Amino acid sequence: MDLTSLSVIRYLCDKYGFEFSKTLGQNFLVNAAIPKKTAEGADINGKFVIEIGPGFGCLTKELCERAKFVAAVEIDRSLLPVLSETLSEFDNLEIINSDILDVDIAALCEKYGYTEAHICANLPYYITTPIIMKILESSAPVRSVTVMVQKELAKRFVSPPGSPDYGAVTAAVMYYTKPKLLFNVSAGSFYPAPKVDSAVIRLDVIPERERIAVKNKETFFGVIRSAFAMRRKTLVNNLSAGFSITKIEAESILSSLSIPVSVRGETLGIEDFARISDKIEENRSTAR
Ligand code: SAM
Repeated sequence: MDLTSLSVIRYLCDKYGFEFSKTLGQNFLVNAAIPKKTAEGADINGKFVIEIGPGFGCLTKELCERAKFVAAVEIDRSLLPVLSETLSEFDNLEIINSDILDVDIAALCEKYGYTEAHICANLPYYITTPIIMKILESSAPVRSVTVMVQKELAKRFVSPPGSPDYGAVTAAVMYYTKPKLLFNVSAGSFYPAPKVDSAVIRLDVIPERERIAVKNKETFFGVIRSAFAMRRKTLVNNLSAGFSITKIEAESILSSLSIPVSVRGETLGIEDFARISDKIEENRSTAR
């Protein structure tokens, strides 16, 4: 059964009385090349994979053909009987009926006895960033995240400092991973077709010990948030507002690190944000 064929999708909709939900971001792939290329790009041969949102199972099938085991988390209960039919040939698969935001990924790995997991998905667009940040911020042993996201968001994930798409999300993603754009996907590859194009990105998670060292992670992410809080303002202004310090203090922090006081946050890389955050911590401990 070709799960990306429109006639098969219509047949399954009729048979199970399934109706697409816009709220759940249900845009299914109708271009057979895409799930194949996504699974290949995820590089998951013989590995443990967690899929988010299997839908009718077109990507799940490609994953099951390559992975050791696939745990597919689907929020929509009405898809369960469809998946029982479309994926009945696979015994290396479990469908979990749950909201991915409620799933403890570390516990899931433990349940199936794996020390590492790879995430692969055509993500529901309404919660793309929260899902990705939840995965990266958790202590779960996730090694890679290969996901379809809206093209605009993909650009933000992979943009270098100084480019218009670079923002707080980019900097956070760069702290945790090495991001890569795999390929673009046109809106016509989905049914129903969304308004915008998409892209598949791959985030290779950097092991904790190899990440940029910071004295206090909360302060580091606070610096990133402040740096992009008001794009038209200088970093001095944004730091002053974000950390309730005077502009003179903010200027002295930057000067001590040989960073020009007129700089805007969006031109700095995560190494600079780490140095600023460490300096703020240092000042706090001397003030104590
Ligand atoms: N994988 C299928 C494909 O590529 O054709 C469907 C992808 S569709 C863009 C997103 C899927 O995620 C839908 O099946 C939807 O029901 C599911 N979904 C939406 N929100 C979810 C959530 N919070 N947790 C788990 N699955 C979710």
